[in-house]
Amino acid sequence: MTSLASQSNTTAQNDSQTTTSHTAAVQSILSSLLDVHQFDPSQIKTDSESLEHWGKDWTKHFAPAAAAIVFPKTTEQVQAIVLLANEHNVVLTPSGGRTGLSAGAVAANGEIVVSMDKMNHIGQFYPADRMVEIEAGVVTEQLQQFAESKDLYYPVDFASAGSSQIGGNIGTNAGGIKVIRYGMTRQWIMGLTVVTGKGDILQLNRGMVKNATGYDLRQLFIGSEGTLGLVTHAQIKLERQPQDLNVMVLGMDNFNDVMNVLSAFQAKIDLTAFEFFDDVAIDKLMAHGQVQEPFESRTKFYTLLEFEAPYEPIMDKAMAIFEECMEQGWVVDGVMSQSLAQAEELWKLREYISETISVFTPYKNDVSVLISYVPEFIAEIDHIVSSNYPDFEVCWFGHIGDGNLHLNILKPENMSKDDFFSECQIVNKYVFETVQKYGGSVSAEHGVGMTKKPYLNYSRSETEIEYLRAVKKVFDPNNIMNRGKIFDM
Ligand SMILES: Cc1cc2nc3c(=O)[nH]c(=O)nc-3n(C[C@H](O)[C@H](O)[C@H](O)COP(=O)(O)OP(=O)(O)OC[C@H]3O[C@@H](n4cnc5c(N)ncnc54)[C@H](O)[C@@H]3O)c2cc1C
Repeated sequence: MTSLASQSNTTAQNDSQTTTSHTAAVQSILSSLLDVHQFDPSQIKTDSESLEHWGKDWTKHFAPAAAAIVFPKTTEQVQAIVLLANEHNVVLTPSGGRTGLSAGAVAANGEIVVSMDKMNHIGQFYPADRMVEIEAGVVTEQLQQFAESKDLYYPVDFASAGSSQIGGNIGTNAGGIKVIRYGMTRQWIMGLTVVTGKGDILQLNRGMVKNATGYDLRQLFIGSEGTLGLVTHAQIKLERQPQDLNVMVLGMDNFNDVMNVLSAFQAKIDLTAFEFFDDVAIDKLMAHGQVQEPFESRTKFYTLLEFEAPYEPIMDKAMAIFEECMEQGWVVDGVMSQSLAQAEELWKLREYISETISVFTPYKNDVSVLISYVPEFIAEIDHIVSSNYPDFEVCWFGHIGDGNLHLNILKPENMSKDDFFSECQIVNKYVFETVQKYGGSVSAEHGVGMTKKPYLNYSRSETEIEYLRAVKKVFDPNNIMNRGKIFDM
């Protein structure tokens, strides 16, 4: 019989051996990259500041603990990293702009972070295809600017577009503020070059519009959060530029009226955005002082809607719908942009919310249901949160035109972060039970990562998750790609 004390000693010895062998394995990989695979020393970082910086994303739930950061410059260098990681059983965490909100890019367990920062070149442009080939580390805004330089448009947009990378957008199938008209990132990806978790280089779909040759593996990589492999290049479709965009901000006191307004406009006009926020969001924005109050008096809910109006009749139609909404008593007040500068100013009301509330360490939920269910759903969630946590401030905003709501519970000043997060986790169960009841999603656009992993089964059945595991095994049999994200193997 072994005594408990000696058992605990053995565990400690095993842990320390594991740590030693892990450190040796990481060291071997780094040495091979330098000596065999022509990495220069600037492509590897192991200092504590870099480990902290590249080891985390926007979430604050998990402490970063990366073993090293590597910065490949080519697909072949990515392949070398993946093959070595397999050989030495070291986990890799793909990393883009690290603006993720689900801890998908967090390296909390001694992983090697593979940062795409040095793969940020825009390659060949195909005018007839309205398509451009880019490396995965290109920043979203860089692609938007490139499109503009060709008189075209890349429509996936959100507040973090100045930092997020296309590889990360593909990893999360990012959505944003224009989904109602242009769809998610998936709609714009015509082809991908990937290095699978096994270390194979695959060129998926090669940019073609039509390609009926069986399974479209490209689609599996979109939204896979780096768990199947690394995206190194993408072929991206571009769109014609929108013309004469107009923005309206409307105020309502009743949530059902938000949906009435959505239906009224959508029946007659193609909206390019329909965003929503509440008076708590406005409160925080005004306290921050970067934007102006839209109307003289506050309303409980606000929507920002945008549409193209290159011809007078469209504008007349929009004004007629607005007047009808006022007559019906749905809208209390409203403003419309008269210039591009005013439109940009109104957009700040929506775009600055995430950053403004980030000082309150918000507990974020990013859920979606069918648009038809949104009013009942939001009423139930509001009831759950206010009855469980009467003292917590709740800020709602989101892409309501897509049935996507961001529920942000704000941390009271005098509460510790840990206490706050554990309290929020209690209420999560009720929130996600409600999501499940409505057949919705526990993550509309931010991904699962580590923060939503415990709740995946509220949106996906156990049988479906088993299929996901089987797919991962095909691409990443040794589970070295972003282990512990989305689901456990
Ligand atoms: C202020 C703010 C507003 C936001 N608004 C929105 C919004 O409206 N809509 C929305 O969808 N998101 C939004 N986000 C979340 C975030 O910006 C997106 O999820 C974005 O797509 C993340 O891109 P990234 O490059 O920062 O990825 P990261 O955070 O670096 O990584 C995200 C995931 O992708 C994986 N990954 C990264 N690069 C690669 C690669 N080359 N190959 C394979 N996997 C890879 C990572 O491992 C991780 O799992 C917002 C974030 C902030 C901070």
